[in-house]
Amino acid sequence: MTIGIQTAAYVFASILFILSLGGLSSQESAKRGVFYGIVGMAIAILATVLGQGVHGHVYIMVAIAIASVIGILVARKVEMTSMPQLVAILHSFVGLAAVLVGFGSYLDPKTHVLSSSEHTIHLVEVFIGVFIGAITFTGSIVAWGKLEGKIMSKPLLYPGRHAVNIILLIVCIIMGVMFAGQEGTDGLLYLYIMTAIAGFIGVMLVMAIGGADMPVVVSMLNSYSGWAASAAGFMLGNDLLIVTGALVGSSGAILSIIMCEAMNRSFFSVILGGFGAVAASGDAAAMEGEVTALNHEEVADLLKEAKSIVIVPGYGMAVAKAQYPIYDMVQTLQKAGKKVRFAIHPVAGRLPGHMNVLLAEANVPYDIVFEMDEINPDLPETDVVMVIGANDVVNPGAQDDPSSPIYGMPVIEAWKAEKVIIMKRSMSVGYAGVENPLFYKPNAEMLYGDAKDSVEKILGFLKA
Ligand code: NDP
Repeated sequence: MTIGIQTAAYVFASILFILSLGGLSSQESAKRGVFYGIVGMAIAILATVLGQGVHGHVYIMVAIAIASVIGILVARKVEMTSMPQLVAILHSFVGLAAVLVGFGSYLDPKTHVLSSSEHTIHLVEVFIGVFIGAITFTGSIVAWGKLEGKIMSKPLLYPGRHAVNIILLIVCIIMGVMFAGQEGTDGLLYLYIMTAIAGFIGVMLVMAIGGADMPVVVSMLNSYSGWAASAAGFMLGNDLLIVTGALVGSSGAILSIIMCEAMNRSFFSVILGGFGAVAASGDAAAMEGEVTALNHEEVADLLKEAKSIVIVPGYGMAVAKAQYPIYDMVQTLQKAGKKVRFAIHPVAGRLPGHMNVLLAEANVPYDIVFEMDEINPDLPETDVVMVIGANDVVNPGAQDDPSSPIYGMPVIEAWKAEKVIIMKRSMSVGYAGVENPLFYKPNAEMLYGDAKDSVEKILGFLKA
């Protein structure tokens, strides 16, 4: 393939990636967006593999075939609830790839015959690429561990950690200066030291972040992985990788800013790590009040009497796969003349947009699905709020308990409704690991059990 054709293919693939991102911005066009992304990536891989100076096509094809089979198997097997873990581990691959490309490019004899200014620029690219890659690699592994429940979700905060991070950053800069001043591959030791330090910084940045703030970390690491890919593009002199990396990096950064706003967190404290610091005590206020519970028939009776109902879905709905019977229940209630709507918190579930995707899967029409800010003002006039498998996103402690790790995070004000029914299996905490005072409110009733099973039973009573 000539360079001209390859460049044209790269431009075409870049356009498809931009169209893909545009498509992903709304649920109606998301499938089209994914399709553009697949075609763009296929063109990008083909144009790269068939490009000039690429040898060993058989090995590359074997590697692509094996990786594709693994990818297909993993993607088919993964539960929707485990998607963030998968995304996190995939980000770690991008980080690792950037580190390996950096080392490979540094050791490549061809790069040593560049003119002195080009060589210096190349060394800077290698150093920055490996730095971002190492942080992304280890940070993503810790994020995977936290999301998978292998590492405690509580933030690991120690006094003076910001100072330690700054000192480590300064050491990395000194290593960079020493590295850039070396001939040939003599700077390898400095590169090794910096890689180890950057890996440590990645671990510490994500360890310092508490469970409830993980959504922002996931999108932040998405952004980091984009910049790592972009840096690899510079090292390899591959324009498409630079453009694609920049697209991922900037869209991830925009998503992080949107998530930070949704969760009332400062973007800069996020990218610097440990923004959950206020949560240090975690000694949430003692619970006051009594917990009362209803049975399925009593809940059905409440729904029969109600005129307006709001359903707040959460992670438990995803685990129970309760979205299908829930929509059956909604249709039954609508036929009985009730106004039924869904209230979606921006971080409900375990990945951005999780609830919207699940409700769309069950064919719930978009016009009865409302964002938190749209529906909160209506809740005081709502007869019944049904909280189905949600916990942190309806925690009033976020508004009135400064010692709570989620203090300051906007929440769905379910307690303002006439009656709140909380459907979950036990009194246990949500992902952020905090008690929920909502369960103790006088207008709140628990309905224990698996969400799907409970909804099916309620539906039975509604139809009887
Ligand atoms: P939570 O994790 O706060 O609560 C979910 C609740 O569901 C649990 O308390 C659990 O209680 C219940 N549950 C679990 N399984 C079932 C079941 N089969 N049937 C019924 N209930 C069940 O979820 P939310 O959606 O309210 O909040 C999301 C949390 O996750 C936030 O803290 C958010 O910050 C965090 N997060 C969000 C991400 C995102 O991008 N959206 C990414 C990573 C983390 P019980 O065990 O008693 O049943």
